[in-house]
Amino acid sequence: MSDLPVVVVGAGPIGLAAAAELRERGLTPLVFERGPAAGAAVAQWNHVRLFSRWSELVDPAAQRLLTAAGWTHPDPEAYPTGSQWASDYLVPLADALGDAVQPNTEVVGVARRGRDRIVDAGRDTEPLSVHIRRTDGTEDRILASAVIDASGTWGAPNPLGSEGLPAAGEHAAAARISYRVPDLDDPQVRAEYAGKHTVIAGAGHSALTAIVALASLAADAPGTRITWAVRRAGVGTAFGGGDEDQLPARGALGLRAKKAVDDGLLQVVTGFRTATVESDGDGQIALVSDAGQRIDAVDQVVALTGFRPDLSWLSEIRLGLDPVLQAPVELAPLIDPNVHSCGTVYPHGVRELTHPEPNVYVVGMKSYGRAPTFLAMTGYEQVRSIAAHLAGDHEAANRVELVLPETGVCGGAGVFDDPNADTAEGGGGCCGAPAAPELVTLASPSGR
Ligand SMILES: Cc1cc2nc3c(=O)[nH]c(=O)nc-3n(C[C@H](O)[C@H](O)[C@H](O)COP(=O)(O)OP(=O)(O)OC[C@H]3O[C@@H](n4cnc5c(N)ncnc54)[C@H](O)[C@@H]3O)c2cc1C
Repeated sequence: MSDLPVVVVGAGPIGLAAAAELRERGLTPLVFERGPAAGAAVAQWNHVRLFSRWSELVDPAAQRLLTAAGWTHPDPEAYPTGSQWASDYLVPLADALGDAVQPNTEVVGVARRGRDRIVDAGRDTEPLSVHIRRTDGTEDRILASAVIDASGTWGAPNPLGSEGLPAAGEHAAAARISYRVPDLDDPQVRAEYAGKHTVIAGAGHSALTAIVALASLAADAPGTRITWAVRRAGVGTAFGGGDEDQLPARGALGLRAKKAVDDGLLQVVTGFRTATVESDGDGQIALVSDAGQRIDAVDQVVALTGFRPDLSWLSEIRLGLDPVLQAPVELAPLIDPNVHSCGTVYPHGVRELTHPEPNVYVVGMKSYGRAPTFLAMTGYEQVRSIAAHLAGDHEAANRVELVLPETGVCGGAGVFDDPNADTAEGGGGCCGAPAAPELVTLASPSGR
């Protein structure tokens, strides 16, 4: 490795963990975060309570760095909200990393110095050139020995339209469509949903969270109506593994959503693939499916149909991405929701995350491309392996230290916002997974 820094894109949980792992290895991390503070994306879903315990949300190297700085680990058995994850862990971690974390700085491009994507010569020898833009408008080029892209997918939610493109009329109806779980503790937001007809689209954990929140509102606010529109033919497995889930809070979320459905607090519309959003002229909208089904008199839509990676600023880098999932080619078969979705994952690290472009890695939520079920624990292991590799410790880089909890259900249900759940539903499921390296499915926290 040269003396140049390893640039990490994004000061989310995985980017900061990467910085801690790199520093522990004697390398120099430089983290650029486009938001005003560390955990900018997590802070936007501050009101959502995680289904992972604190013991599963702290990277081991980060913990060592923080402990040396006098930090006290929150109760390992407690479940933080997004807001608490940011304020009680990510912000102190960024503080402990000091000047290595630069907020208000967006990475707008990465290239090989002096070369665009098509030039072969020098790709192994020239440093990477990271193009940044600060919120004060200044721009810079930073040379880096390696780039770890931990920029997440939060900024690129999937549209409501079932074809992966906005439905006709989706842009025009933007004021009535939210792509986030609403924070109903905020009186202003609550007023937007109380006594109104809301359609929740999607079948992942965010949709279940929205169902539970809106069902509780419906019990308090007369006239509140909820319709749950899903693309799949049934919602049975969408509730997850319940008591079988090795993350108890994740299982409990599904059970609470199921109870809301069983109690008749919402209407379920299955096999609904949104093609058009129409205005009805009275200030409400209607959703029309590709088969001509209609959901009329809608005040609000909460579209929770998953996320996708923003690859636009990596256009000059030679990435090896799976054409379906947009995840690294070696990783994609291990996480494909069409094949398995128990929440299991095969051990993976630097080997599966390597691209044709030397020393560029996509990690964290973004490494999963369009696949759901990403857990922070997965990302911590990814960056541990990459940091070890960059430091020349290939034995540690190749050693698998990942253990993940199963959802307790196979075949497309235990997933975040899985737009493919209808295809996965009929599929085999991960428990009969294809031949692959040893499958690790033990429930265990992130410690090593
Ligand atoms: C509602 C919700 C609940 C979840 N619950 C759980 C849970 O219980 N347990 C669990 O393990 N996981 C959970 N997850 C998954 C969770 O998102 C990840 O574990 C974690 O947040 C992913 O971290 P990340 O660092 O990869 O991405 P992010 O947290 O998205 O962080 C990416 C960072 O990069 C920054 N950024 C983006 N683009 C740029 C750029 N071009 N330049 C500079 N900075 C940039 C962003 O501002 C952001 O701060 C949940 C996710 C959601 C949305």
